[in-house]
Amino acid sequence: IKTIGVLTSGGDAPGMNAAIRAVVRKACAAGKNVKGIRRGYQGLLEEDIIDMSRHSVSDIVDKGGTILFTARCSEFRTEEGQKKGAEICRKHGIDGLVVIGGDGSYAGAQKLAGLGINTVGVPGTIDLDIACTEYTIGFDTAVNTAMQAIDKVRDTSTSHERCSIIEVMGRNAGYIALWCGIANGAEDILIPEKYDYDEQKIINHIISNRKKGKKHHIIINAEGIGHSTSMARRIEAATGVETRATILGYMQRGGSPTCRDRVYATMMGSMAVDLLCAGKSNRVVGFKHGEFCDFDIDDALAMQKNISNYMIEVAGDMAK
Ligand code: ATP
Repeated sequence: IKTIGVLTSGGDAPGMNAAIRAVVRKACAAGKNVKGIRRGYQGLLEEDIIDMSRHSVSDIVDKGGTILFTARCSEFRTEEGQKKGAEICRKHGIDGLVVIGGDGSYAGAQKLAGLGINTVGVPGTIDLDIACTEYTIGFDTAVNTAMQAIDKVRDTSTSHERCSIIEVMGRNAGYIALWCGIANGAEDILIPEKYDYDEQKIINHIISNRKKGKKHHIIINAEGIGHSTSMARRIEAATGVETRATILGYMQRGGSPTCRDRVYATMMGSMAVDLLCAGKSNRVVGFKHGEFCDFDIDDALAMQKNISNYMIEVAGDMAK
């Protein structure tokens, strides 16, 4: 491997910059050239490629977002687009590529590997929904951001003796909702994995809590379930308890990464470069059973992840 490329793809996540920095600096330390591909696979197809040195990544370890920008690219889902991407890599001398993103981005990396470009994926998503790893870059920051915001909503909710429905990110995955549900002491948690949403059960829960003298009722709702505003209207009508919806939205994707996200992103970015330098391809970096590890992309994409039933049970017990 002479030249390593790096790109970020799919949804952005805090800590992606720390991963980019690690890739660039580890590659430079190993005597490789480094090219940054901006705007994910879209930028690759448009040859939006820049030379990078260890100085190009100064002062970014603490910054949210991604200095390389990110995008979704439908053209890259086609065989033609993938062939064009591999050709562009070859044209720029990129013989190793680190792809920081989610499962979709790995599928792109897998296709490039099949076309002769050595690729390694690094898990970057706030949703924690990548099966081969117990950690993804950005989750720790996002869940802490959401937790702090929910604490604030809870204060005012108690003062006004309201019920609050707080919608957090997670279109297909309830990890942020479940972790916040536990960390914020929510009375009810709604997640897409366990879709047994029963509004009457929530209404009864609110009414019985009021009778016990509870001053607030926090419901954490995952984005994948949605409809928080209409849910609030119906719950207020049924319970007579003033109910408000707060949708936290994109704030959860930004901000300075936590220590854990900076450190793990640095380790994972570095490991990706080590794998490329060792001649490996079609791999993804993960974290399992307390250790950094790597998997074949085909195996990683075939894995299934189940949210912990025990965590759900504990969350429920805390609210009883
Ligand atoms: P997140 O979960 O944060 O959204 P992601 O990487 O899963 O991240 P996607 O939008 O699924 O996000 O994928 C990012 C990009 O990867 C797509 O826009 C596309 O360019 C490429 N990609 C996705 N799936 C494939 C595929 N099957 N083959 C080739 N490229 C793909």
